[in-house]
Amino acid sequence: MDFETVKQKESAYVMNTYGRAPICFVKGEGCTLYDSTGKSYIDLTSGIGVNALGHNHPELVEAISNQAATLMHVSNLYYTEPMVEVAEKLAKGSGLKKVFFANSGAEANEGLIKCARKYSSDKYGNDRFVILSLKQSFHGRTMNTLKATGQAKFHQWFYPFPEGFDYVIANDFEDFKAHVNEHVCAVMMEMIQGEGGVLPLDKDFVQQVSAYCKERDILVCVDEVQTGIGRTGTLFAYQQFGIEPDIISIAKGLGGGFPIGGFMVGEKCEYTMQPGQHGSTFGATPLGCEAANVVLKTVDTPEFLQAVKEKGDYFMNGIRSFQSENIKDVRGMGLMIGIIVDPEKRADYVNNLRDKGILVLTAGLDAIRLLPPLVISYDEIDASLSIMKEIFE
Ligand SMILES: *Cc1c(COP(=O)(O)O)cnc(C)c1O
Repeated sequence: MDFETVKQKESAYVMNTYGRAPICFVKGEGCTLYDSTGKSYIDLTSGIGVNALGHNHPELVEAISNQAATLMHVSNLYYTEPMVEVAEKLAKGSGLKKVFFANSGAEANEGLIKCARKYSSDKYGNDRFVILSLKQSFHGRTMNTLKATGQAKFHQWFYPFPEGFDYVIANDFEDFKAHVNEHVCAVMMEMIQGEGGVLPLDKDFVQQVSAYCKERDILVCVDEVQTGIGRTGTLFAYQQFGIEPDIISIAKGLGGGFPIGGFMVGEKCEYTMQPGQHGSTFGATPLGCEAANVVLKTVDTPEFLQAVKEKGDYFMNGIRSFQSENIKDVRGMGLMIGIIVDPEKRADYVNNLRDKGILVLTAGLDAIRLLPPLVISYDEIDASLSIMKEIFE
């Protein structure tokens, strides 16, 4: 099929919810993507933080192929080995107690919200249900997670929105305290706001919020959907903020490209959810769990995580060394990087980079966001830097 045919069929049959770049990808290998004309690109997007091991990772492909030929899906009416293996790895890697498996970030956060509310209603009755989230946050596209998302532009058209959410200014502990009252059951935050513009929270703020919440039995919930699974140089980003969350959500990188997500609970909520109170037909499918097993086995080693940190620092320092007035800031952690530019020029940068074979993302109003595969090599970082230097300078 030539590109024009693909474009026509997309326009005729696919719902018009995305602004797509004019490329049709046909193949990927490591950090390289190939389009239908044979042109290659360095992928600094990982399919929005998903392909943690890059494209066509041999062990991941083999595990999925073997599992597909053995047992693809049976539902949660039964036990399977891949499920318990991932659960054990996640528990040991986080120090949290238990996991519920879902399929996407939004579904993971829906479960997180339900679990937080259930914990509170079990203990304090039905009038303590408000979830505080941060302005500029992003938590997903379902009704609850849209409402949890602290950006007004997401709160339109789909009325009525569910109640029980309130928003505080990120990194403003006074504002946080001002929003806590007897109806609040949980706070939910990303350690680095991803879609909001690659905005890392201050460690002090996170620790103050966490301590304040622990004193009042308000649950500390961390959305690790984008920051989790090694992205920031630790298995979970909260591990660099010195807190112990009560609930976290995960998805994006967990299956390395296969859709799988979930939420995890610590001691407080270990027994909050009981049979019949939550579920998901596709949750914990052996195929997804085998993919997650390979990703976790690869990512969750001290050497791999240290390399993510070092590659991220190297990448950020490389960008900081550009002689360019057009770059206002470079920030991030590990391989989650934001380059802050003039909002009016951003689209041109993204398009020019793409023309030169570099794929990047955007976030917020002024960030160019990089989420490369965690396996990116120094040669690939250098190749990206030299093209970026040309474009930014
Ligand atoms: C992407 C994202 C989500 C939503 O994940 P989906 O899989 O698209 O539903 C939720 N929270 C954060 C922090 C994300 O980055």
